[in-house]
Amino acid sequence: MANTHLYKPNLVIVISGPSGSGKSTVIDALCKADAALRLSVSATTRKPRPSEVDRVDYHFLSKSEFEAHIQQDSFLEWAEYGGNFYGTLKSEIVTAREAKKDAILEIDVKGALQIRTQDLSPARSLLIFIIPPSFAILEKRLRRRKTESETELKKRLAIAKSEVLEIEHYDYWVSNPEDALQQAVHQIQTIIAAERSRIDTKLIETINPLLGIDGAD
Ligand code: 5GP
Repeated sequence: MANTHLYKPNLVIVISGPSGSGKSTVIDALCKADAALRLSVSATTRKPRPSEVDRVDYHFLSKSEFEAHIQQDSFLEWAEYGGNFYGTLKSEIVTAREAKKDAILEIDVKGALQIRTQDLSPARSLLIFIIPPSFAILEKRLRRRKTESETELKKRLAIAKSEVLEIEHYDYWVSNPEDALQQAVHQIQTIIAAERSRIDTKLIETINPLLGIDGAD
C-alpha cells in the first residue's frame, strides 16, 4: 500500500450493487489482497444459506434480537430488503478502527444513503456502486447460484432496477463484466489508493510534527 507511513485508516468503504452484481466475490478478493481492509460483518434476520457461517458471513439474528439492537441504538444503519432486515453494527466500525484498518461494508442502497448523511468523524465514507453488465446477465447469475426461490428472485430483480436509479448518490461506479473479476477488483483498488492519498486535516496533523510545525499561528 502506498503512503503507508503517513496514512491513518479512516475510511468506511461502502460497496453496493444489485443482488448478483458480484459484490461478495469482489470484496473477498479485495480483502485477501489488502491486509489494511476489514470486512464489516452485517447482522441479518435472513435465514443462512447452506454455505454460510454465523459471525463469518453474517450475524444471523431473530427478528426480536434485531429489534432489540434497534432499540439499543446499536446500528450505524439498517434497512429492510426483500422482507428481511439487514444492518451494520456500530461495533464493527469500532473494531476496524481499533485494528487500524479501513472498514469495508457490503450493504444495500438504503443503508448506503444513511451512511452518506451521517457525520462519521474521525472516519469518512467512500461509496462505490458495482454495475452488472446487463439485467439479463444479472438474472442469469442469480438463477445459476440457486439460492433464492422464484418469488424471491423476481423480488431481487425488481429491487435491482430501483437500486441502479440511486447511483447518483455514490462517489464512484465500477462495472463488473462477465469473466473480468480482476478488472473490477483492480479498479476498486485504484479508487481506494486515491482516497488514501487524499489531503485532509488528519494528514496535515500527521505531517506537521514531521516538519517541526506545531500547527499554531
Ligand atoms: P443477501 O441476502 O444477498 O446476502 O443480501 C441482500 C442485500 O442486503 C444485498 O444488497 C446486501 O448488500 C444487503 N446487505 C447486506 N448487509 C447489509 C447491511 O448491513 N445493511 C444493509 N442496509 N444492507 C445490507
